Amino acid sequence: MSAGRFAPSPSGDLHLGNLRTAILAWLFARATDRSFLVRVEDLDRQRSRPEFERTQLEDLAALGLTWDPPVVRQSERDDRYAAALDRLTDAGLTFECFCTRREVAEAVRAPHHPPGAYPGTCRDLTEAERAERRAERVPAIRLRAQADRWVIHDALHGEVDGHVDDVVLRRGDGAHAYNLAVVVDDGEQGVDQVVRGDDLLDVAPAQAHLAHLLGLPEPAYAHVPLALNAAGRRLAKRDGAVTLRDLSPGTVWDLIGDSLGVRARSPEALLAELDPADLPRKPWILTS
Ligand code: GLU
Repeated sequence: MSAGRFAPSPSGDLHLGNLRTAILAWLFARATDRSFLVRVEDLDRQRSRPEFERTQLEDLAALGLTWDPPVVRQSERDDRYAAALDRLTDAGLTFECFCTRREVAEAVRAPHHPPGAYPGTCRDLTEAERAERRAERVPAIRLRAQADRWVIHDALHGEVDGHVDDVVLRRGDGAHAYNLAVVVDDGEQGVDQVVRGDDLLDVAPAQAHLAHLLGLPEPAYAHVPLALNAAGRRLAKRDGAVTLRDLSPGTVWDLIGDSLGVRARSPEALLAELDPADLPRKPWILTS
């Protein structure tokens, strides 16, 4: 199967920026004759709420979007993530990390270190050192990345040669991490086209590298511009009437259609009018 997808986290209502990304993910998938899947990314048990899952799906439907069932929930796929982690561990591609967030943050602020990258503190601990640390805390599991950089091909950004980190695969509290889940799910669901906000462009090379190490195909990417508020910051719910709780589907289509420079006010009309290759590259700044 060849598929695109929209993968929201059910931690709040979808705002105009999220809705626009969903519409664009649908457009890219349908313009290339792919299936379109919706995946509920509810790994974060603290922030995820079933009622947001419900309203998010209702909101997508209210805009006329359709997707191919079933809707998959990450909270129900722990065994898949555990199996993938085992495969990596068996291949010697993981290590235990005992660092606290703070220790990582302090180490990465060191001069000449790639911004945000894990400094490798626990990569080469001896067995004795690990045994000692295990008595203090349950380690996170990180990927033993096999490259410093990885090139992805993005429909909007071209060739992106990005840093690859030893990403966390399982947190110290036992929860599987987003980077592992997203790669396993895309691979196993046949998602070969990833369209999402360009805030995730930075992690795409590491995800593509992880897919490669898991023997999964690397998807085609399109990281689409985010919606910004009048101050130039990423749009958030506190920016006012920005969700379908306050706006009608018609108004949402008017705003999104205008942002794309099209007259289309439905998914099918958009498909007829806009070639995804002609998508505006600039952020969408909402001024009112
Ligand atoms: N669940 C992520 C989010 O809502 C998106 C992850 C992805 O599209 O890969 O930001």
